[in-house]
Amino acid sequence: MKMNKDIIKNECKKQGIDSIIKYDEPLKNHTSLRIGGPADVFCSPGNIEDLKKVVSISKKYNIPFWVIGNGTNLLILDNGIKGLVINLNKGFKKIEFSDKIVKVGAGVSLVYLSKIALNRELSGLEFACNIPGTLGGAIINNAGFKGNFVADVVQNVTFLTGENKIEKASKSNLNFNYRESNLKGKSVIILEATMLLKKGNKEEIESKIKENIKIRENKQPLRKLNAGSIFKNPPGYYAGELVEKVGAKGLSRGKAEVSLKHANFIINNGGALAGDILYLIEEIEKRVKKNFGIKLEREIEILGEP
Ligand SMILES: Cc1cc2nc3c(=O)[nH]c(=O)nc-3n(C[C@H](O)[C@H](O)[C@H](O)COP(=O)(O)OP(=O)(O)OC[C@H]3O[C@@H](n4cnc5c(N)ncnc54)[C@H](O)[C@@H]3O)c2cc1C
Repeated sequence: MKMNKDIIKNECKKQGIDSIIKYDEPLKNHTSLRIGGPADVFCSPGNIEDLKKVVSISKKYNIPFWVIGNGTNLLILDNGIKGLVINLNKGFKKIEFSDKIVKVGAGVSLVYLSKIALNRELSGLEFACNIPGTLGGAIINNAGFKGNFVADVVQNVTFLTGENKIEKASKSNLNFNYRESNLKGKSVIILEATMLLKKGNKEEIESKIKENIKIRENKQPLRKLNAGSIFKNPPGYYAGELVEKVGAKGLSRGKAEVSLKHANFIINNGGALAGDILYLIEEIEKRVKKNFGIKLEREIEILGEP
C-alpha cells in the first residue's frame, strides 16, 4: 500500500509528535556502513509516550515499521525502506543501578555501558567494550565477543508490541542462541533490559577490556566503514578463513571490498552502493558452497526495497 505522507504529517501534528518525525530521511546517515536509501518516515522518539503514539499511527494506517539502533549490523538497500523506521538511539538511555542489578534503556550504547560498569567495579560487560551497537540491537542479536554474550547477563527484557502493549520476557523465554533471540524478526520494540552483573576487581576488569580492544585493533578493519562480521561462523569453521580459502579476500566491486585485514568484513571505501556489498556477499556464498558444500549464514541483516 502506498503511504500518503500528507495524512501521516497531519496525524503526527495532531498528536504533537511532528518534531520527532522526518520524511525521506537518508538511512546512510544511520548505519555504520554509511549505505542506505531513504526511509519514507523516520522517527526518533525520546520517550515511551511518543513511541506509543508512533506505533498507534503505524497501526491505524497499516504502515509497517522497522526498528534500528546504531545501524551497525545492517545493510540497508539503496531504494530505502517503504514504511516507518523507528530509531531508538536518541532516547531510552536511562541506566539505573541497584547493587549488581542494572536496568538499562534500549538506546544505551554497549561501549558506554561497559565503561559505566567498569567504573562501578562490576564485571560481565567487558566483552561489550567495543561492540558499537545499542543494547536493543545487542539483545536481538545476542551480541557477543570471544565466548561471552549479552545473554550471559540479561535477566529480562521489556518491549512494546505492534499492538502497543508493553510486555516483559524473562531470559528463559527469549531462546538466546548464537546471534539469535526469539525477538528477532518480530514486530517488537525493545524498551529496556535488566542485567545481573558480578562484583569484580577494577584492575582485572580494565585489563580484560584492554585485551579485548587490542585483539580487535589487530584483527579488524576498525578505521574503515563496515558492519562487523558478514557471516556467522559455521560449526567447526571460521567464516573468515573460508572466505580466504575461496580467494575472496580483497575482492572488490565498485567501492566495496572484502577486507584485506579480516576476510569476514566488507568495507565501504567511500560511496559504495548496497548492491556492491550484496554482490560480494552473494559471490562469497556461491564460492564457499561450491568449494566446501557449506551454506554460509548471514550475520549482517539486509533491510529495504530490492
Ligand atoms: C566494527 C564492528 C564490530 C562489531 N563487533 C561485533 C561483535 O564483536 N559481536 C557482535 O555480536 N556484533 C558485533 N558487531 C555488530 C553489531 O554491532 C551488533 O550486532 C550490535 O548489537 C547491533 O546493535 P545496533 O544498535 O547497531 O543494531 P542495528 O544494527 O541497528 O539493528 C540490528 C537488529 O536489531 C534490531 N533492533 C535494534 N534495536 C532494537 C530495539 N530497540 N528493539 C527491537 N529491535 C531492535 C533491528 O531491527 C535489527 O534487526 C560489530 C559491528 C561493527 C561495525
